[in-house]
Amino acid sequence: MTKLKPGDRVDCRVKTATIVSPYRNYDEVKTFEIVAKDDHGYYLYVPHYYALKGTIVADVYCCKRLGIDKRFLNENIIHIQENMIANIRSRLDGMVCSICKEFYPFASGNQKDGTLICYSCRQNPYR
Ligand SMILES: [Zn+2]
Repeated sequence: MTKLKPGDRVDCRVKTATIVSPYRNYDEVKTFEIVAKDDHGYYLYVPHYYALKGTIVADVYCCKRLGIDKRFLNENIIHIQENMIANIRSRLDGMVCSICKEFYPFASGNQKDGTLICYSCRQNPYR
């Protein structure tokens, strides 16, 4: 499972205003920003000029439940499964813990040599 997170951008293939599997025929490729994730996949921000089927409006309840940033309030979003992502465009900054190799978004180095050791590993070096 790739670990994408809000702020990352992905390409999806679109055919007749529907996001289709990366293995299907398509009309165009569009880039979307991830605004939230759940157990089944990701929620993508859909700008108003992208006419897509199946979008929902990120209302207050939805933003709260999914932890969506309030700049997307009342914008259109769409839920996709992870396997609908054709390509990963960019990932936000962060660092990988040098012990457990977990990726921590927005983290910066906290060791003398500039590497990161995460909180869990600092608490329990033998985990
Ligand atoms: Zn760690």
